Amino acid sequence: MKLKDLLETNIENFDEYPFLYHHGLEFTNVEVKSLADGLACGLHSLGIHQGDRVIVCMPNCPEVIISYQGITRAGAIIVPVMFTLHTKEIQYIIQNSGAKAVITSSLVAEKVEKAMEKLPVRPVLILIDQPKNERAYNFYDVTQYAKEENTLNTEVKPEDTAVILYTSGTTGNPKGVLLTHKNLYSNAYHSAVHHETERGTTLGILPLAHVFGLTVSNICFLTGSSIVVFSKFDPSEVCKAIETYKVKNFSAVPAMIHALLSYPAAEQYNTSSLEWISSGSAPLPLALLHAFQQKFGVQILEGYGLSEAAPVVTAHSRSMPVKPGSVGIPIPGVQIKIVNDSGKELPAGEVGELIVSGDNVTPGYFQNQEETWRVLKDGWLFTGDLGRVDEDGYLFIVDRKKDLIIRGGFNVYPRDIEEILTGHSGVQEAAVVGIPDERMGEEMVACIVAKQGTDVTEEELIQYCGEFLAKNKTPRKVLFLEALPRNGVGKILKTRLRSQAAEMIT
Ligand code: ATP
Repeated sequence: MKLKDLLETNIENFDEYPFLYHHGLEFTNVEVKSLADGLACGLHSLGIHQGDRVIVCMPNCPEVIISYQGITRAGAIIVPVMFTLHTKEIQYIIQNSGAKAVITSSLVAEKVEKAMEKLPVRPVLILIDQPKNERAYNFYDVTQYAKEENTLNTEVKPEDTAVILYTSGTTGNPKGVLLTHKNLYSNAYHSAVHHETERGTTLGILPLAHVFGLTVSNICFLTGSSIVVFSKFDPSEVCKAIETYKVKNFSAVPAMIHALLSYPAAEQYNTSSLEWISSGSAPLPLALLHAFQQKFGVQILEGYGLSEAAPVVTAHSRSMPVKPGSVGIPIPGVQIKIVNDSGKELPAGEVGELIVSGDNVTPGYFQNQEETWRVLKDGWLFTGDLGRVDEDGYLFIVDRKKDLIIRGGFNVYPRDIEEILTGHSGVQEAAVVGIPDERMGEEMVACIVAKQGTDVTEEELIQYCGEFLAKNKTPRKVLFLEALPRNGVGKILKTRLRSQAAEMIT
């Protein structure tokens, strides 16, 4: 099956139903299909054809989902871009992807136009909320083009690229991950099977421009479910939607789970319909997992994935015992191994690099053979993440290889220290990074956001860590920050934090 067929299957199997809710608006699946078909034909009339790249850059809204379906149905390639990126980053993606069109909203238009200023060939600009003018087309005008059979029957093979997803660059320059129709379809299908996802209404709180958010919407199509689309994450709106739509489950990142836990008015809403939340994209601190489960009586099923795996690799399911701290077992159709630096498979319990294979694995990076060869070897994707698998086959992510701190020749995993620090009553968030040190090679710095109203000190935290950790794992320095630098999905930007910490300390 292909991503392009999602709409057809959805309508065939489920007839007409409200697919999408957004600020009082409602779109049925049949309406989404009709608009997507119109957009596909409109894009063809504007000179965008099979294999061309189309950027979609705006906050979550119905038009993002309609655009994704329309672009796919035209045989073109979706390039989702986080609207929070800076002009320069957007410019990089427009240039690198060679996009022929950009679909955006007036909120982001200025930034996008600035990014397009110096380009030799200007992509077509389509605005969802502005009438046609000399610089841009109106999205809804474009969806009104006559539906042409030859456009809608564009032949797309499962191996064709459906999406180019630029990584958020938490570890360097963004790379365009190629994801095929097969990659995305099979991953959405197997994730739904693994989670035993039933038909219902879920929440679209993750950015649709991120692979995790994109998959949530694909799973909705597959399971005949409805989605409440949020343009920004607001705990009160989330609680209200759970109550209104009797939401049973949704997907989130730990930063969102943390915000919900800290939302004081949550108890005013009836959230009793909620059964489980799937968490991924970043480590879920154990203290947060336990506190949330205790307060809401809701199971958190942690999973693990990455853009290059479309994205889900492992997850807990409802029918298996949950092991706190683990990210579950491989979903169907995905194989994993833990290997050492020479690529040799390691036995259960040993820490090494996690490698992945399956229908979900990317064929590589867009026009970047060198990086492709670096991460893809003999059909295996080298994730750059360190992990171990226990005797029962559960995966534990130890840390990112690049975040590993080598202090005096010994490996220190920042996550071990972060787990301890987030257990302290005065700590809201913690991230540990290594900074260069003349004597030890690298030294650990704990970057802390303190809980409001507490007056926790550096000495206290260092002493606290010393109670749980060996001396060579105890941070030498604590920096108190207002907030940790994060990307569009709330993931901590460790590269930025490392330079910030190094600057503040020297
Ligand atoms: P870049 O690859 O440029 O750093 P990125 O981090 O945004 O960008 P993604 O594909 O969004 O790339 O994120 C994948 C990474 O997120 C994984 O490689 C892993 O390090 C981390 N990750 C995902 N889920 C978990 C989890 N449950 N626990 C710990 N880490 C996780």
